[in-house]
Order: sequence, then C-alpha cells, then structure tokens
Amino acid sequence: MNEVFKVLGNVFINMPKGLIVTFKHLFKKPVTIDYPRKKKPMSPRYRGRHYLERYDDGTERCVCCGLCAAACPSDCIYMEPEETENGERMAKVYEINLIRCIFCGFCEEACPEEAIFLGQEYEFSSGDLDSFIWTKDQMLVPHPRKDNPFKRIYRRVRKVYGVTDRT
Ligand code: SF4
Ligand code: SF4
Repeated sequence: MNEVFKVLGNVFINMPKGLIVTFKHLFKKPVTIDYPRKKKPMSPRYRGRHYLERYDDGTERCVCCGLCAAACPSDCIYMEPEETENGERMAKVYEINLIRCIFCGFCEEACPEEAIFLGQEYEFSSGDLDSFIWTKDQMLVPHPRKDNPFKRIYRRVRKVYGVTDRT
C-alpha cells in the first residue's frame, strides 16, 4: 500500500514540481550560447594563438634576437636566424610548440620589437600532434595588424614599470 502512495506522490506532487521548474526556465534568458554558431567574445586581455607582426612597410618585425625564447618558461620556442641582402637579421625558422605552451604571454612581454603577440583565437584543437608545431608562415600576419592601441600602451606601461603579474 505504501508503495502505491509513493508512486501517487511522485506522479501528482514531485513530477508537477519538476515541471514547474522547467516551465519557469522557459522564459529566462539562457546562460549558454549556441556554440560554435555563436562565439563568446573573449576578454581583451585573453591570450590565444600567437602571431608574428609586420611593420607598416610589410617587413617582418622579428629580428630573431631570441629574447622571447629566453623568457619562455616552457622552452617551446625554436628559431634559426638568417641575414637578408641588406644585412638585416631575421628569422629563417621560427617555431612554437603549442603543446608545451602555457599561454603565459612572457614571449610577448619580452619582445623588444613587439613582433610576437597572442591574439584572441582559441580554436586550434586537433588530433594530429604535428599540427601543434606552428611555423613562422602560420604565425606571420599577411598585413600589419591594426593592433588595439590600448593593448599596446598597456604593454609599454607594464614594461616601463616592470609589472609582472597578469591578474
Ligand atoms: S606564451 Fe609563454 S609558454 Fe607560450 S611561447 Fe610564449 S612565453 Fe612560451
Ligand atoms: S619575436 Fe621578438 S623577442 Fe622573439 S626573436 Fe623575434 S624580435 Fe626577438
């Protein structure tokens, strides 16, 4: 008999209670987004994939000085220098192992030429491990990027005052 009351309680009390909760949420703004059709804008300070910047005349900013590699705590940057016909130094090889990278942004902070920066993109997952070795060609921007001026000023101020925390 107790079992019968239990079943009746579930059907006429608990189930309606659950349906009321469901019904209430039908009219609330959803907290989820329809990813990947819609993408959540990331914070301006978010550190995603790496890019190598160019000067306004199209030449590469990176002079292969190695400071980014020296600052990298994960030891995931590899580069080989070469000299151009004008005697300018540039990177012949520039690679980042994104599997080891912890996206700390120290490379960006260490770069005296503001050549490397971490963008907002985060969609580069893959099942192929080799695809995580990013080469210079993959990172080099086709045109000088219109960098967020506030981010550039922010980087300068951090450099001048030696601010190290990224909170
Ligand atoms: S973000 Fe950090 S870990 Fe990744 S390459 Fe730059 S310095 Fe290295
Ligand atoms: S990205 Fe910047 S710090 Fe790294 S080698 Fe090039 S110029 Fe030097």
